[in-house]
Amino acid sequence: MFDLIVIGGGPAGLTAAVYARRAGKTVLVLEKDALGGQITWSPKVENYPAVPSVSGMELGNLMAEQAMEMGAEVEIDEALRIEDCGSHKRVFGSFGAEYEGRAVILAAGARPRKLGLEREEDLVGSGVGYCAVCDGAFFKGQPVAVNGGGNSALQDAVLLSELCSRVYVIHRRDGFRGEEALVETLRGKENVEFVLNAVITELEGEEELSGIVVRQNGANREIPVSGLFVAIGHEPDIGAFAGLVELDDRGYAASGEDCLTRTEGVFVAGDCRSKRIRQVTTACADGAVAALAACAWLDR
Ligand code: NAP
Repeated sequence: MFDLIVIGGGPAGLTAAVYARRAGKTVLVLEKDALGGQITWSPKVENYPAVPSVSGMELGNLMAEQAMEMGAEVEIDEALRIEDCGSHKRVFGSFGAEYEGRAVILAAGARPRKLGLEREEDLVGSGVGYCAVCDGAFFKGQPVAVNGGGNSALQDAVLLSELCSRVYVIHRRDGFRGEEALVETLRGKENVEFVLNAVITELEGEEELSGIVVRQNGANREIPVSGLFVAIGHEPDIGAFAGLVELDDRGYAASGEDCLTRTEGVFVAGDCRSKRIRQVTTACADGAVAALAACAWLDR
């Protein structure tokens, strides 16, 4: 029986683990994929205080190492369901394992939003991807497209422009919502083309992606690419816990800045909760707030 089980080993969950360990609680972090969470997909993080520039992978690793060095236990396992047993919670993992904790922090983050196009699922791993840091190298010397107008899409495009023969940045508006500095960097690159006011309508290719069709200003345009990186935002990764906590109208765990939920002994932190600004720094802040609230609740 752990004092605290943290679901999710991203910046929110790992910060929560550090704070709870400092308060003398036993902590288990369950992570279904890679410790560090979504930040590990960021080629470069330049807005984390005191660290002018670091790869997301390195930052995530440092956070994980710190939490483990402080005594947090870590399991790579997906939490499929959480049962409220009154005095404690039971978490059911994906390999049949069960974990028990007196309190739980949900820090499950968010997952990439899909385009919802026909054959998108079939082509994942065969040209369609959601993580340029992970898969960009497979497309060295080849033409690729990035879809989206936020910082993720712009950062992906910068990374891919160093590797690929041509990078089409496809966005449904005539301006980007991501940082102007990134837009400027891309404008200065000869192998980058902005395809604006454009929506992808079709994915081409049988076994592997060979091109995309975009609808731009009322006309169809066919663009031959070997890779498409979809970076159109995220959705909460909280499906497995939907019955445990109240969700807001967008499917995020309903909570305020206090990271409390209406379920006794369950707290929420990071991108999976209702909030306006989703950044590494705000995720870490949530981790601290949720952990201290959980510790106070445990002590009571
Ligand atoms: P985002 O800022 O929400 O941008 C998503 C983009 O995808 C928007 O441009 C949106 O278009 C577009 N989009 C959404 N649904 C679409 C659809 N169905 N079809 C086509 N386009 C669609 O997401 P993000 O870029 O992943 O960033 C998320 C948060 O993380 C942001 O706060 C961002 O600043 C932050 N972030 C920070 C860094 C960093 O290093 N500082 C790096 C990455 C991300 P509209 O503009 O039309 O809505």
